[in-house]
Amino acid sequence: MKVGFIGLGIMGSAMANNLLKSGFKLNIYNRTKEKVKELASDNFEFFDNPKLLAQNSDIIFVMLSNDEACDNVINADNGLIEGLSKDKILVNFSTVSAYYSKKLYDFMRTKDILFLEAPVVGSKVPAQNATLIILCAGDKKAYEVANVYFEKLSKKVIYLGDVPNASFLKIVNNQVMGITMQALAEGLQLAKKLNLDLNTVLDLLNSGAFANSMFDLKGKNILADNYEVHFPYEHMQKDLGFAVKLAEDKKAFCPALSIVNETYKKGLQNYSKADMCAIFETLNS
Ligand code: NAP
Repeated sequence: MKVGFIGLGIMGSAMANNLLKSGFKLNIYNRTKEKVKELASDNFEFFDNPKLLAQNSDIIFVMLSNDEACDNVINADNGLIEGLSKDKILVNFSTVSAYYSKKLYDFMRTKDILFLEAPVVGSKVPAQNATLIILCAGDKKAYEVANVYFEKLSKKVIYLGDVPNASFLKIVNNQVMGITMQALAEGLQLAKKLNLDLNTVLDLLNSGAFANSMFDLKGKNILADNYEVHFPYEHMQKDLGFAVKLAEDKKAFCPALSIVNETYKKGLQNYSKADMCAIFETLNS
């Protein structure tokens, strides 16, 4: 089976490296070709456009920023769709809107192309350590083939049946994560104004009933003024925007979600490329 991989950002480069380490030869495309320097093996061939990559691959994994990036790679001139044909498999790891994912799935079905949406839970380090959680939905036949590769990338795979169930679950996950992130950042803000020792505050939060690994990691980074990107701030806001739209459409009353989305939007100009924990700085400004 010939394997294509598109997207060498923070997550894609780490995931492609795990497939390379597992011995799979990869057909690679990324908008910025220099990113191939992130790859730890030369067991790959770079293609100048997604169409050529698709013509030369049986299964294609995509890990890109958002709906627009996916559309650019799939539907532009020399895009994936021009090289895909019956029974090829497209797996989209990118976190996109549920609406876009469903539209993509429906379109692929008209061409007899097998499709899975497969957004991942876990950030840069789990991507590097192959301990992601993969949420996936779509063609069962494609899932059975893709699972061989998923096993090399993840500690757990959850198959959810119809598209866009995996997108729904991913967006709910990030709704909770964003709100929790703002809760931590706000707590640290107030504690700072009260002249409390922030290490003591963090130690308490990490010892109580709602201790979690995100508080530990992001809390320490905030205290160290370290906003080196693992999960980009702009992607956190993107996912909150998806959740706001779903909540509106489904008439789910989610006031905290709306407020956190507005907080993230406020800091986009300054912190879009920083880590999502820079929300602490947004609250400061
Ligand atoms: P990233 O580092 O920003 O990488 C984005 C990728 O998309 C790059 O390959 C970039 O190409 C490509 N891209 C962006 N706009 C494009 C366009 N218009 N046309 C073609 N290619 C385009 O993002 P990431 O952190 O790897 O995240 C990728 C996806 O995974 C996102 O949907 C994110 O929400 C999701 N995710 C991220 C994390 C995390 O912790 N980072 C965790 C779970 C899920 P260039 O190299 O040319 O810029």
